[in-house]
Amino acid sequence: MNKQRYFKEGIIGDRNGTPALMGRHCTDCGKKSFPPTELCPYCASDKLETVFLGDEVTVLAATTTRAPVPPYDPPFTLAIVDMEDEIRTIGRVEKDEDVMVRKGDRLAVKFGKLYEETVFNKKTKANETIDVIGYYFVPK
Ligand SMILES: [Zn+2]
Repeated sequence: MNKQRYFKEGIIGDRNGTPALMGRHCTDCGKKSFPPTELCPYCASDKLETVFLGDEVTVLAATTTRAPVPPYDPPFTLAIVDMEDEIRTIGRVEKDEDVMVRKGDRLAVKFGKLYEETVFNKKTKANETIDVIGYYFVPK
């Protein structure tokens, strides 16, 4: 099995043994944000608490890219989504090519390998493959 790493630290947490996205809740203005930041993006407060986010999102817009954009192989679909009715973010949609993703569709948040990367290990003096773990969306 390949070694693994998160594509970004601090955005995926363990909610009762199940991975979940982590965001911030501002105790000054009450808004939630994602990905986690040190200051609230709305009021610049530093009174932020880490919260787990829901495992469903709603599509605002989606598009399929047919040009290669490393590290992803085309075609792949990106969607702008709303989570928790207040956080707008973007993510890749894992789906069959004939499945359309439209505004208003509900997608499930999934966690797994996004892509592989090859790095040179100085100790073993050999290349090794690392599975880069992150989140993506799938049609419900
Ligand atoms: Zn705030």
